[in-house]
Amino acid sequence: MIIHSAKNLGRLILPSAIVIAAGAVNLGMKSANAAAPTATDIRIGSHADKTRFVIDISEDVKFKVFTLSDPYRVVIDLPEMGWRLPGNVMSRKTGVIDKFRYGLFRAGLSRVVLDVKKPVKIKAAFVLPPAEGKRYRLVLDLAPTSLAQYLAALRPPTSSSRQRRESDTTPEASTGILPPGRKPEKTAIRKHVIVIDPGHGGIDPGSTSGRVFEKHITLATARAIKAHLEAQGKYTVRLTRKKDSFVRLRRRIAIARAHQAELFISLHADAIRNKRIRGLSVYTLSEKASDREAAELAEKENKADLIAGMDLSTESKEVTNILIDLAQRETMNESARFAVDLVKHIRKVSKTLSNAHRFAGFAVLKAPDVPSILIEMGFLSNRADEQALRSKKYRANLARAIGNAVDGYFSRNEQVQR
Ligand SMILES: [Zn+2]
Repeated sequence: MIIHSAKNLGRLILPSAIVIAAGAVNLGMKSANAAAPTATDIRIGSHADKTRFVIDISEDVKFKVFTLSDPYRVVIDLPEMGWRLPGNVMSRKTGVIDKFRYGLFRAGLSRVVLDVKKPVKIKAAFVLPPAEGKRYRLVLDLAPTSLAQYLAALRPPTSSSRQRRESDTTPEASTGILPPGRKPEKTAIRKHVIVIDPGHGGIDPGSTSGRVFEKHITLATARAIKAHLEAQGKYTVRLTRKKDSFVRLRRRIAIARAHQAELFISLHADAIRNKRIRGLSVYTLSEKASDREAAELAEKENKADLIAGMDLSTESKEVTNILIDLAQRETMNESARFAVDLVKHIRKVSKTLSNAHRFAGFAVLKAPDVPSILIEMGFLSNRADEQALRSKKYRANLARAIGNAVDGYFSRNEQVQR
């Protein structure tokens, strides 16, 4: 669960600001190897009635800033960041800022929350490029405002209220800034969104045992996972297809992104010549496959659009070409962490391959901002696997194991914000 309401956010976090900060520091250390932007210092200054909050960051970042009421807060949303701040940084408060905290909000999203002493307006928010060996600087200027104006700014943004910088003209400032009036309830009560992707469908049946098609197994299992997760009340689960229909690979990614999914789980079941081989395996994206089987499997799964008769010659290469950009790397780390955990949970209910977590260039895992995994649930070419996957009871057990891993994933990501 994220937060019950904006009101509770303040109550939950206020008494334990230092603990949270310490957690955030540890987290930053843990992911220090990842190619993520790193905050190296925070400075606060005040002049006349203006308070300036500055974060030094190792690279240019996109960010959003908005205000919340009850209590009064200013929130800066950033990409997932490392935090290597001086030890005394928390004692630096001045001007309208009473306290602040920072850390991972959820996968891919780091957050800074400023507790302000009175209603404020965001006068300016922008990123300055490095000057003379300095870091990038995210600059936020706050000034007191009337309660009426503060509350008015909490309303949903309109084009006329779009925020403008008042004093600076760097082009960086114009990117990624939301008007200060983002509706707090919207983020506050949002359930975790998970997109389940039943592989194949319609004209593309996937593999077969002769008795059953992969596309039917994947859809039946997706429904079982959806039912299990949604019964808990914490998750909204969307399927990339609800019936036996063809959905192209890039469309599956687009669905996950359109729903702002926090996890994407693609389901498959292979069939191979060697009928004795059985067991489940979990895949995450990588340019370099962990072994030849993984590479061949990815190649096979990536042909789904081709099998369905799509003309790929007019396509851009963004999906079929497995070149991984920088933005994907942290998402990939997150995906891999989930995969490792998932294998542990699944081992309790299912036979797995040795080295059950493998890597390969699966096109469907290429959403740059959604942690994504692909589960090969077993081999339809193996009698025992096939019988298990055709059993409703087995699919329910599998759904429960996946659900436990999902719970673990989100509770770990939320520890910092509590
Ligand atoms: Zn498949």
